[in-house]
Amino acid sequence: MTIIESTPLLPARLQKQLRLLLVEDNPGDELLFRALIGEATQKTVCVEGAQSMAAATRKLAGAPYDAIITDLDLPDSEGLETLSALLAVTKTTPIVVLTHCEDEDFALELLKHGAEDYLVKGRSEGPLILKTIRYAIERKEAEQHFLQLSYYDKLTGLANRELFRDRLRQAMVRATRSAQLVAVLFLDLDRFKAVNDTLGHLAGDELLVEVAVRLQGCVRKADTIARLGGDEFTIVLEDIDHPSFAEAICRKIIEALQAPITVQRHELYVTTSIGVTFFPTDDVDLNGLLRNADAAMYRAKDQGRNKYHLFTADLGAEAVRRMTIEAALRHAIDRNELFLCYQPKIELKTGAVIGAEALLRWRHPELGLIAPAQFIPVAEETGLIVPVGAWVLRQACADARRWHNLGISVGRVAVNLSARQFRGGDLCEFVRTTTAAAGLEPAFLELEITESLLMEDTTASCAALSELKNQGFGIYLDDFGTGYSSLAYLKKFQLDGLKIDRSFIRDLPTDSDDEAITRAILALSQALHLKVVAEGVETVEQHRFLQKVGCGAVQGYFYSRPLVYDEFMAWLIARESGQKSDSPGFEETELRVAS
Ligand code: C2E
Ligand code: MG
Ligand code: MG
Repeated sequence: MTIIESTPLLPARLQKQLRLLLVEDNPGDELLFRALIGEATQKTVCVEGAQSMAAATRKLAGAPYDAIITDLDLPDSEGLETLSALLAVTKTTPIVVLTHCEDEDFALELLKHGAEDYLVKGRSEGPLILKTIRYAIERKEAEQHFLQLSYYDKLTGLANRELFRDRLRQAMVRATRSAQLVAVLFLDLDRFKAVNDTLGHLAGDELLVEVAVRLQGCVRKADTIARLGGDEFTIVLEDIDHPSFAEAICRKIIEALQAPITVQRHELYVTTSIGVTFFPTDDVDLNGLLRNADAAMYRAKDQGRNKYHLFTADLGAEAVRRMTIEAALRHAIDRNELFLCYQPKIELKTGAVIGAEALLRWRHPELGLIAPAQFIPVAEETGLIVPVGAWVLRQACADARRWHNLGISVGRVAVNLSARQFRGGDLCEFVRTTTAAAGLEPAFLELEITESLLMEDTTASCAALSELKNQGFGIYLDDFGTGYSSLAYLKKFQLDGLKIDRSFIRDLPTDSDDEAITRAILALSQALHLKVVAEGVETVEQHRFLQKVGCGAVQGYFYSRPLVYDEFMAWLIARESGQKSDSPGFEETELRVAS
């Protein structure tokens, strides 16, 4: 091999020694080529020869060449076939064709088939040959770069959505031929948003890059890992004889992410939820497979995160239901399908109405009345809860304003907030301006939050909570007792009070466990100076018991079901004038979405 003498006048890129593969069976043509190129470069280019396609293939399996110069007609390959055969062994090396033909149509045909350029035998001088080769190399580099941009994720270098779909499609074709399975894994990092919110996007990016590296360590080279965007990754596993193989990979991934990831001197613990589906057993359609894997991933999340879940047919129906709801919910606000119901909160000592909780309802023209339990989780997953929650707050403020104007005292109106609404960043500002626009004092609004928000424990959510509190809004912890019920959180966040979940109230006073829990929660809140509202009070026995043990306030069917605006107003007026309300109440029917 000849080493090029560095000529400082040439740009660095052009100084690099070229290693060329000359595929030419005619010894005369080979000699001529070598002579011409040797003359032009003072023998500073290394040319290796191959006299057949078979020899070329062998050589290409070794160290890479900068370019291939090839004759099309070889003893074992002919015409355009030669091009395809070379492209099959190397996609990244530029190919320049040596030909006798000067025809332009033929030249175009060559380019279409993947050649970078061509040289006409006997008509090209050394410098032209060299220039052609150099340009071919540059063009190929540009092509590769473009390919990288359009098929790979910039941040992690993993495949992007386009390439993932392409690879999955190819894998499906191969699997059909070999009668094997393809597994599609859908991964979502648990609580990734919290990292982004607390440490910033750069830290989030660093984390994603490290996760990508660890994922690559869990699969074979031939398997495709893609980042679809955000914190969503997909993996295509080929040549699977049995689902248990994919399960083993899932366990490997979960374990690989167990060790903390250090980002900006913080030790972060990330976990992932994985959904798995198989081609062709679960579905034979690419989009169907993606939906399956996605549905299975949500099931894994529901089961407590850091888990994997294999797709099953019932999840398919569930996925369709979710999608139906999601699609319909997107229009619910514009089409006026949402409305609020109010349920009073009663102070036990005095029997006074101290407030009302706004509860969201959705009446779809075809699906009928859809219960919050069915659509709020979907709204949270899709982020639709942000506009929906904004609508709830605006509507509740407007309703409260109207009652105030009419001189009807409802006390504090309570609005439920989902953890997701805190992630946007400007929630506090939004609450402040919305109440101000309605001319409502902060003291007239209560916000019910869930433990999941406190669990996230991000600087953003802490800051928003304490700012809301400082502005004078009331903050209640909803459904207390169902989650982690951590004392540390109760102390750390300045809450006004908590609501005992109705599952503890339901079997009072007969269930001694529930009785003990209720007493404990009351003792605890007394010590921490927290107010308590018991949810779901339906019977006079429950009412009496709660009165006896010193519970502050109650809410439930015993006093009233959630009522629409007019009904609730009528209920309030009737109560104020001492009459017993004969309002039938808003019929709460749990309608299922027809699938
Ligand atoms: P939650 O905030 O704990 O609301 C109390 C739920 O208990 C309401 O269910 C209410 O109708 C029901 N309830 C009240 N009294 C009784 C009773 O005596 N017996 C029984 N069995 N149930 C009673 P709903 O309206 O179906 O809401 C369910 C959940 O949906 C709410 O639980 C809340 O977490 C969520 N939600 C409702 N509206 C909104 C909203 O505007 N935004 C957000 N983020 N979540 C909402
Ligand atoms: Mg609530
Ligand atoms: Mg509740």
